[in-house]
Amino acid sequence: MIDRIIRDDVEHVVDGFEHDTFAEKSVLITGGAGFLGSHLCDTLVALGAAVTCLDNFSTGLLKNVDHLLPKRGFRLVKEDVSNFKENEKFEFIFHFASRASPEEYQLYPVETLLANSRGSHNMLELARQHDSTILFASSSEVYGDPQVVPTPESYLGNINHLGARSCYVEGKRFSESLFMAFHRKYGLDMRIVRIFNTFGPRLRGDGFYARVLSRFILQALAGKRLTVYGDGSQTRSFCYITDLILGVLLVSSNVKARGEVLNLGSSQEIPILDAAKQVVTIVGSNPGLSFHPLPEDDPMRRCPDTGKAKEILEWEPQVSLENGLERTISWFRKQADGAS
Ligand code: UDP
Repeated sequence: MIDRIIRDDVEHVVDGFEHDTFAEKSVLITGGAGFLGSHLCDTLVALGAAVTCLDNFSTGLLKNVDHLLPKRGFRLVKEDVSNFKENEKFEFIFHFASRASPEEYQLYPVETLLANSRGSHNMLELARQHDSTILFASSSEVYGDPQVVPTPESYLGNINHLGARSCYVEGKRFSESLFMAFHRKYGLDMRIVRIFNTFGPRLRGDGFYARVLSRFILQALAGKRLTVYGDGSQTRSFCYITDLILGVLLVSSNVKARGEVLNLGSSQEIPILDAAKQVVTIVGSNPGLSFHPLPEDDPMRRCPDTGKAKEILEWEPQVSLENGLERTISWFRKQADGAS
C-alpha cells in the first residue's frame, strides 16, 4: 500500500499539472525504482499513463514501486539501461538511471560512467527508433564548484575532470552532449533538466547510498550525532520532491522546452550546518554534531538561477525547506515505527 504522505504528495502534483498530456500514453522511466524515478512512476500512473519502470536495482528499491505492481498500466522490468530493448512504441522516455550519491558513485566510477554513456546512448537510439520525446535527468554537478551563484544554464562550469567526482560529472556532461548531438543530427525531441539537490520520502539515508538530509534525519531520529563534513559552511539549495516532479512534467510536456536545457531546483540556499540544526529542531532531539573532513572536490556553493524555468514553464518551487523537512521527517518516523 502506498504511504499516506506520498499519496497526498502525488495528488498534489496531479492537481497542479492540469494537462492530459500523459493519459493513455506509453512511458518509459529508467531508474524508475529510485528516489526520483519512483515518484515519477507514481505520478504518471496517477495521470493515466502506461508506465514501464526499468531498473537494475543497483540503487533503486523494489519497495519503492511494489505497490504499483497490481495496477493496470504498470510494468516493472529488471534490466540494465545499457541493454534494454523494446519494439512497442514509447511516446515519452524519462532517462533517470544512474547512481547519484557521491559516496556511492565514487565506489562505482566505471558503472556510473557507463550508465551515463552506453546507457544514455541506448536510450537515445530507442527514442529515435520510436520517435519519442526523451528527457534527460542531468545534474547541477555539471557546474562543478561554480564561481557564479545563483548559477544560470549558460555557466560553463568549473570542473576537475580527473577528480573523485569526475565519473558522475563527466558522465552527465557527456550525456548532455550526446543528447544535443541526437537533437542536432536527427531532430530528436529531447529536453535536459539539470536537477539540484532534491529531498523527500524515499531519499536513501543508509550507508553510502545516503544523501545529506536523509542521513541527518536518520541520525537525529536515532539520537546519534549528525556527521557534518568540513565546517558546514558549504551551501546547498534543497528542493522538495513534489516541486521537482511537477517541474519535470512541465518540461516534458511544454513544446517551448524542446531542445532546451533547464535548471530545476530551489533557490533557498543554506549552509549545511544550518540544515543540520533545522533537522535537529524539527525532530526535537539534541544529539549534537560531529565534524569530519570535507570530501575531495565538494562544491562550496550550489544554488540554481531558475529564471529560465520561471519564464518558459511558469514554474517555481512552492514548498519551503521547513515544510518539506516536516513531511520528510514524518515519513522517516513512520518507516522507523513500521507503519505504512
Ligand atoms: N554532507 C555532510 N554530512 C554527511 C553527508 C554529506 O556534511 O553525512 C555534506 C557534503 O559534504 C556536501 C553536502 O552535505 O557538502 C551535500 O552532500 P550530498 O551527499 O547530499 O550531495 P551533493 O550535494 O554533494 O551532491
